[in-house]
Amino acid sequence: MRSCEVLIVGGGPAGSSAAWRLRRAGCDVLVLDQARFPRLKLCAGWITPEVVRDLKIDIGAYPHRFLTFDRMHLHFKGLDLPVRCVQHSIRRLEFDAWLLERSGAPVIEHCVRRIREDGGAYVIDEQFRARYLIGAGGTRCPVYRTLFRELNPRATELQTVTLEHEIEYDWRDPHCHLWFFEHGLPGYAWYVPKQNGWLNIGIGGMAERLKRSGRSIHEHWGLLTAKLARGLVRGAHYDPAGYSYYLRGRVEAVRRGNAFIAGDAAGLATRDLAEGIGPAVRSGLAAAEAIVSGAEYRLTEVTGASFGGGMASRLLDWAMTRGAARDAA
Ligand SMILES: Cc1cc2nc3c(=O)[nH]c(=O)nc-3n(C[C@H](O)[C@H](O)[C@H](O)COP(=O)(O)OP(=O)(O)OC[C@H]3O[C@@H](n4cnc5c(N)ncnc54)[C@H](O)[C@@H]3O)c2cc1C
Repeated sequence: MRSCEVLIVGGGPAGSSAAWRLRRAGCDVLVLDQARFPRLKLCAGWITPEVVRDLKIDIGAYPHRFLTFDRMHLHFKGLDLPVRCVQHSIRRLEFDAWLLERSGAPVIEHCVRRIREDGGAYVIDEQFRARYLIGAGGTRCPVYRTLFRELNPRATELQTVTLEHEIEYDWRDPHCHLWFFEHGLPGYAWYVPKQNGWLNIGIGGMAERLKRSGRSIHEHWGLLTAKLARGLVRGAHYDPAGYSYYLRGRVEAVRRGNAFIAGDAAGLATRDLAEGIGPAVRSGLAAAEAIVSGAEYRLTEVTGASFGGGMASRLLDWAMTRGAARDAA
């Protein structure tokens, strides 16, 4: 059996951020991920300046594609609201592998199935043993399912469903576009260009409200791509895939004994834009900090709103969830 001080399940942004902080403090860390990196992660790949700052990323030294937008176009009911901003796009395939490698932690390809407690330690699949355990395995994280599900049951009204496809495309418009609530979609669609000829197209909405609306996410996808074909994206062929995750609701417990959950495993995506990378990074760092310094692990510094919680955030939150998020909280 292999032993370590801290075992992290999942090498996405939550797990690699925790690993990075722990390694910098000299901890003996091991990351287990069921996938071999670089691995495909369905995601638009939009990241905020806070992510860059939290992870002390030197943009100039990043070896892959990194595009900075100075404008986002927010579309509502045919209106185009161009908003000045500084936001970035990356390809998750590249970004996640780079973060994980940069953390300096050893990584083993292993799908975690069974977790049990044994004399103040955690035993994983009878192969690994650790004093601390961080669950960063995304929506279906086995640490969440084994140790936290009863404490934090998923709020189905906060579940999002998505479809996306990242394609090689010689885009002309270098800005990010978001279309909100088109054709009754309880969510939004996006166009996110990447450096050097890549483009991510996607759509996401609240699962329960979509089901009730009678129009599936695939039908919304058809409407979106037909619209893009008439202007922004001509002659593209798509093969979209989907993934589901949870917006931030009531999270009763993120620590239990020496076990922690972070990122999508805890359901921390923002309620207004369903942004998950920033909350994953912040929570991963905070869980690591709790182990390193004994600080309390809390989510107070993990934002629940991409637009900062002001009027725009509250309106979007309401329109996406129609009060469900507030009820769950
Ligand atoms: C279509 C789509 C678009 C999105 N766009 C954006 C965006 O533009 N910006 C943004 O901020 N957020 C976006 N999000 C949300 C964001 O992708 C997630 O919130 C973020 O990836 C969460 O990071 P994480 O580290 O918690 O989980 P993940 O990135 O999902 O990483 C979890 C890791 O755990 C591993 N794992 C899972 N189960 C096991 C197991 N049993 N054993 C071992 N390993 C396991 C997985 O292989 C994976 O590598 C989007 C999500 C989707 C679905």
